[in-house]
Amino acid sequence: MPHTSHLEISKSAYRRNIKFLQNQLGAETIISSVVKGNAYGHGIENIIPIAESAGIRHFSTFSTDEAMRVHNTIEKNSTIMIMGMIENRDLEWAIEKDIEFFVFEFDRLLATIKAAKKLRKKAKVHIEVETGFHRTGFEWKEKEILAEMLFEQQEHLELSGLCTHYAGAESIANYVRVQNQIKKYHEFKKWFFNKGIKFKTHHTACSAASLSYPETIMDMVRIGIVQYGFWPSQETYMSKFKQLAVNRKNPLKRLITWKSKIMSLKKVEMGDFIGYGNTYMAPRNMLVAMIPIGYGHGFSRMLSNLGKVLIHGKIVSVVGTVTMNSITVDVTDLRDVKKGNEVVIIGKQKNNEITVASFSESSQQVNYELLTRLPQDIPRKIVY
Ligand SMILES: *Cc1c(COP(=O)(O)O)cnc(C)c1O
Repeated sequence: MPHTSHLEISKSAYRRNIKFLQNQLGAETIISSVVKGNAYGHGIENIIPIAESAGIRHFSTFSTDEAMRVHNTIEKNSTIMIMGMIENRDLEWAIEKDIEFFVFEFDRLLATIKAAKKLRKKAKVHIEVETGFHRTGFEWKEKEILAEMLFEQQEHLELSGLCTHYAGAESIANYVRVQNQIKKYHEFKKWFFNKGIKFKTHHTACSAASLSYPETIMDMVRIGIVQYGFWPSQETYMSKFKQLAVNRKNPLKRLITWKSKIMSLKKVEMGDFIGYGNTYMAPRNMLVAMIPIGYGHGFSRMLSNLGKVLIHGKIVSVVGTVTMNSITVDVTDLRDVKKGNEVVIIGKQKNNEITVASFSESSQQVNYELLTRLPQDIPRKIVY
């Protein structure tokens, strides 16, 4: 089906990001590539082959449906780990396929043991402990019963990991909270160790923690946003920037470019209102171009009269409101604009660039949100 825009995904950018990361983490640290949210909008089926060719052998998803897609895409016997949602009835499927998953409550633990018994196959579980995120994780007061069950059921369970997740490592405002979490995690770790319960890996860090709290790195890290070439926050970038002072260049490369075309052009007279309502009155005689992407494609309505796109290598502004399927941009100052000319919504055109970050700043959407709102069905093309 013909689409109104497409995404390009750069393989070489991915490799550079992984190289930078592995350098920061040390060669021994396993990178689990987090591909939830349709690989942060890039497309699970696109990212997996690129990641495997860059040496990644571990993938993390939020849910079972994503894990199934990863399972159908991997070619290198990579490990798959579900960090969040899996229905008890899908546990047998996961165990059968050697898919690892987080266990953060007794209900799931009991269902896991039951399924593993039935299949006569060990379930590969990652025990998640509550260290202060207060969403999921076994509580400190539950550790005795938990340890007893893990010990008694050891023939049905493979303890693949002991893990936790930090509550906002991308902002210094959460420094004390994160420090307390690190401390709590180590208390759990030590306690289990003393009980003779051993886990194959220890992992706690996401992108921001890996970069800002190196002590959280351990055996494995779960990396989402950074592999796609974005900083978890401006703060993480700034704090890293000082260490990167040697060449003062952003070491991360954006993978994604989002392009469309001019659908039509129209002359508008001074004083005319453009689009729905009266949010934009032409201050002069203008030439405006319609671009067939709108909030239905993830271009936020908050970018009404604010958003920018590139045409002919020049930055042009959205005029009027963003509608479901289209935006109107001011091309009065461009020469020879034609229907069909390329429009870059995210990415480079000649000497100019619209990064997702600058795009998000004007709409107050964070990188994460914008990326994952990109519709799954926009065609994605892998480029070098
Ligand atoms: C999303 C997620 C990550 C990855 O986070 P990034 O900030 O994108 O690196 C790691 N761990 C868990 C549990 C997550 O949900």
